[in-house]
Amino acid sequence: MLQLINERAEIVQEIGHLKEKQGTKRFDPVREREMLDKIVAHNHGPFDDNVVRHLFKEIFKASLELQEEDKNKQLLVSRKRHPEDTIVKVGDVEVGRKPVMIAGPCSVETEEQVDTVAKGLAEQGIKLIRGGAFKPRTSPYDFQGLGIEGLKILRKVADRYGLKVVSEIVNPADIEMATQYVDVIQLGARNMQNFELLKAAGQVKTPVLLKRGLAATIEEFLFAAEYIVSRGNNQVILVERGIRTYEKWTRNTLDILAVPILKQESHLPVLVDISHSAGRKDIAIPIAKAALAAGADGIMVEVHPDPAVALSDANQQLNLDQFNELMTALKGSQLL
Ligand code: PEP
Ligand code: MN
Repeated sequence: MLQLINERAEIVQEIGHLKEKQGTKRFDPVREREMLDKIVAHNHGPFDDNVVRHLFKEIFKASLELQEEDKNKQLLVSRKRHPEDTIVKVGDVEVGRKPVMIAGPCSVETEEQVDTVAKGLAEQGIKLIRGGAFKPRTSPYDFQGLGIEGLKILRKVADRYGLKVVSEIVNPADIEMATQYVDVIQLGARNMQNFELLKAAGQVKTPVLLKRGLAATIEEFLFAAEYIVSRGNNQVILVERGIRTYEKWTRNTLDILAVPILKQESHLPVLVDISHSAGRKDIAIPIAKAALAAGADGIMVEVHPDPAVALSDANQQLNLDQFNELMTALKGSQLL
């Protein structure tokens, strides 16, 4: 019986490849019902028809899963396709080799604000500064960001301290322009399935930091990354930033399990955003430790000179003292 089931599986795989070439769907429910009806018509017991249907349905299902596995093997972002870790190069920073820290304000507000943070980061030996210039805000009445002006401030200040810039772009038409100012294009959670934006980011050489969608499954996240990589840009960093659940004591629920799963399934570097996941700052140290212990390639955190007056995400941004405490804790635990 076992041999026959495996022989059948081999045939199923061959048919799967043919269907793939023809562009036909693998699963044909009408044909499956016909087959089950035929099988049951030959059933003389003692198993009753429902049991027979169930048994054969399981064999069909396992075969279909085999075809799906083959399909996933083909994903460019999959580790099955590319076993070695992808190292994303941002200047002389190599994301994916040893843990990195990306820090900076939620939004770029003024040159002075960015300068204060940049100086603090440089003093800690940090090379990557983040800051939002195009802000995807829930309410249209909230601060929308400084736009290109914000990118220019980031570039100017970053160059002053020898830092690299990470900033979010929300419009496919702005991707090309953004490459003049930023070193890493961030695609935010709300745009994880903005396929035109993903395609546009796939067409440039600038590294892309892709955040997991608000309620995206790991599979959807990987397919979103595949959009970018399949267009020719393999410099993609994945960021787990929490997903929406019923829990209200945190802004989102950090899916720590996604970290080892993503590392196992994909060769792309994986970071954890400890600010947008928690939405609070009092637990920054333990969650950063947990993320790195789980195998994350780095941390993203929001830092503002005076979080209480920040124009966005005031509750979750660390001030520079708190950021220094976080760095001391991570270095002390030899996680960074
Ligand atoms: C951000 O990092 O600035 C941001 C808006 O985060 P997210 O897209 O994860 O909500
Ligand atoms: Mn923010």
